[in-house]
Amino acid sequence: MSLTNITIIGGGACGISAFIELFLQLRIAGRHRQVSITIIEENEEVGKGLAFGTKQPGHILNTQASLMGIHFTEPEHFSEWLIAHEHRVAEEVVDNQGENEAFTTRRLYGDYLKEQFEHYFKLAQEEGMHVQVIHASAIHVKQLEAGFEVQMSGNETHSCDFLVLSPGTPVANNYPDLEGKENYFGSPWPSSAILENIPKHADIGILGCSLSAVDALMTLTDNDYKGKITCYSPDGLMPRVQSQSQQMVDCKHITIRNLHQIQRNELRNPTVKEIFRLFMREAEAYAGGKIDWKATKRTDKPADQLLAQDIEIAKNGGDALTNIPYSLRYESSEMWKWLDKSEKLKFKKWLGNYWSVNRHCMPLVNAERVNGLFKSAQLRVVPFLQDVVFDEKKNAFQLTYDDGEEAFEKYIINATGPAASVEMMKSELIQNLAKGGIIEPEPAGGIKINTETMQVITGHVPYPNFYAIGHITNGLLLDVNAVWFNVKMIGNLSRHLISQIIGNAS
Ligand SMILES: Cc1cc2nc3c(=O)[nH]c(=O)nc-3n(C[C@H](O)[C@H](O)[C@H](O)COP(=O)(O)OP(=O)(O)OC[C@H]3O[C@@H](n4cnc5c(N)ncnc54)[C@H](O)[C@@H]3O)c2cc1C
Repeated sequence: MSLTNITIIGGGACGISAFIELFLQLRIAGRHRQVSITIIEENEEVGKGLAFGTKQPGHILNTQASLMGIHFTEPEHFSEWLIAHEHRVAEEVVDNQGENEAFTTRRLYGDYLKEQFEHYFKLAQEEGMHVQVIHASAIHVKQLEAGFEVQMSGNETHSCDFLVLSPGTPVANNYPDLEGKENYFGSPWPSSAILENIPKHADIGILGCSLSAVDALMTLTDNDYKGKITCYSPDGLMPRVQSQSQQMVDCKHITIRNLHQIQRNELRNPTVKEIFRLFMREAEAYAGGKIDWKATKRTDKPADQLLAQDIEIAKNGGDALTNIPYSLRYESSEMWKWLDKSEKLKFKKWLGNYWSVNRHCMPLVNAERVNGLFKSAQLRVVPFLQDVVFDEKKNAFQLTYDDGEEAFEKYIINATGPAASVEMMKSELIQNLAKGGIIEPEPAGGIKINTETMQVITGHVPYPNFYAIGHITNGLLLDVNAVWFNVKMIGNLSRHLISQIIGNAS
C-alpha cells in the first residue's frame, strides 16, 4: 500500500516546526507508518534559513529566548535548552544570560533548530516512519488529480498528497534597475558577499534603516569597517529599543472585547480610526495624562537624537508607545484579522511604519552599538529618500532625497527588508506559483489563506491539501515575522492536515 506523503517546501524554522509536530501527532495517532514526510530544502543544512543561517556574531535574536521555542505550545523550550546547555552556549548569549529574557546570537538559534530537527528526524526513523530531506530548489508546483507534483532544480520532480509551503522571507525585488550592478548588494544576507567585495575603508550607502539595516550595520562593525556609513530611507525611522525589563500593560481600552462590542453594536468590523482612538486612550491612561500626539511624530527629528532618547527610555522600562504594542503581542493578530481588506491597507499606509518601529524594536545590545556609530560620526541617517539610480559616468549610485538633494555612493547595500507583496518577492518558486494561479496574492501582502487552518485559497476555495506558513502569509496575518506566532499557526495547520488523513483512512 503506497504511503500518503506530506511534503514541506522549506526546511527553516517553520518547516522544522511543522515536521516535528506532524510526526508527533501521526505517531500518537498510530498512523506514522502509513504516512511519509519529505522536506525540500535548497540549502545544505536544514534549519539555517535567511534569519538563522547567519554566521555573524552581531546578528542577534530580536525576540527574547522564552518566545523562541520551536515546539507547539512550548515557547519557553529554547530558553530551557539554553539553561540546559549553558556550558557550551554561554558565549553566544549576548544579554540576560540564564534568564527567560536572554538574547542570543541568531547563529546559535540556527544550531538549536538543526539539533531539534536531527533529533526528531532520527526518532521518526527509529519509530518506523519514512522521512527524507531532498536538498534541491523547488521551482514550480503542478496540481495533479490527487495531490501535487513539485518541480525542482536539476529537472527533478517529486509527487506528494499534501503540500506545505514554508519558503521563509524572500528578499525584495524593489530596485530591479540596480540588480547586477557591480557594487550593488541586493540584501544584507548572506554577509559573505559584502565582506568579500567591499574594502574595509570604503564609504557605504545602506538603503533602509529598519532591523535589516541594523543587521547590515552589525556585519560592518563586526568586521571592522572604518568608512562612513549612510542609511538612506523614505522615513528615516530606525527601530526603537526593547526595554530591559518589559513592563506589560494590562490593557483596558484597546482590547478584543471592545472591538467585539463594535462588531455587536454596529454589525460591522472595527475601523483603523476606532482602533487608533482606543490605542490613544490606552496610552494616555498608561501615561497618566494627556499625550501631545503631534510631538510623537518622529520623521522630522534626527535619528541619532531619537536613538539616544530611546535607549534611556528602554533602560527605564519603556513608554506607552512601545509597551502597549508589546503587551498586545497575543491580541494584535486577532485584531488584525478583524480589519477589512481596505482597513488593513489603510493601517499599513497611515500607521505601518510607526507600528513597526514601536512593535519590532532592536535589542538594547545592538542599540548601544548603533549609538556608538553615531557618536563616532561613522554613521548618519538621511530621510526622505526619493530615488536611487546608477550613474554610468561617475560609476557610482546617485541617491536623491529631500526635494533635490543628492548624494553619490560607490557601494550600496539594499537593507529595505523582506518583500510584503508577492509581486516583489525575489523567488522563482513564488513567481511561478503566482503566474500559474496555484497561489493568489492578497492586496495587503502575501497570499490568500484560511487564517484558521492555514490552507491556501484561490478564488474563494481553500485547497483541501495545500497549506502555507510564515512570511508568505504576511497580509492576512500580522506576526508572521515571529517564530512564536508561526509555531502557533503550525499547531492549527497540523491538526487540520492530520484530521484530513485520519478522516480519509476511516
Ligand atoms: C534577518 C531576520 C531576522 C529575524 N529574526 C527573528 C527573531 O529574532 N525572532 C523571530 O521570532 N523571528 C525572526 N525573524 C522572522 C523569521 O523570519 C520568522 O520567525 C520565521 O519563522 C522564520 O522561519 P521560516 O521557516 O519562515 O524562514 P527561514 O528560516 O528563512 O526558512 C525558509 C527555508 O526555506 C528554504 N527555501 C526557500 N525557498 C525554497 C525553495 N524554492 N526550494 C527549497 N527551499 C527553499 C530556505 O533555504 C530556508 O531554509 C527574522 C527574520 C529575518 C529575515
